[in-house]
Amino acid sequence: MRRYYGIAQERAWSRRELAREFGLSTGRVESLVNTAVTHLTGVDVAPRFDRLCVLCGGRFTVRSRLSRRGTCDSRCETELKRWAGRATAGARARRTDTR
Ligand SMILES: [Zn+2]
Repeated sequence: MRRYYGIAQERAWSRRELAREFGLSTGRVESLVNTAVTHLTGVDVAPRFDRLCVLCGGRFTVRSRLSRRGTCDSRCETELKRWAGRATAGARARRTDTR
């Protein structure tokens, strides 16, 4: 931690340097750093990524770039699934049903 933030060091160490120093993966170092910061400050400092809800356009944040979430909350998520279901059902019904 001290190395990462450059405390009592000439400069801050990068995660890659720390990983090499301790023989860990950069992902592991990142998670260790996040855990340590959370522990030290009591604040969740995990990276967040701003996204816009595909349904209502509202802003929301995801905890990981890898998150596939596209809606701001469970209400929009449910609505989106309903829409998707309707679209699929509509395509299927087009052949047999003229409604
Ligand atoms: Zn929404």
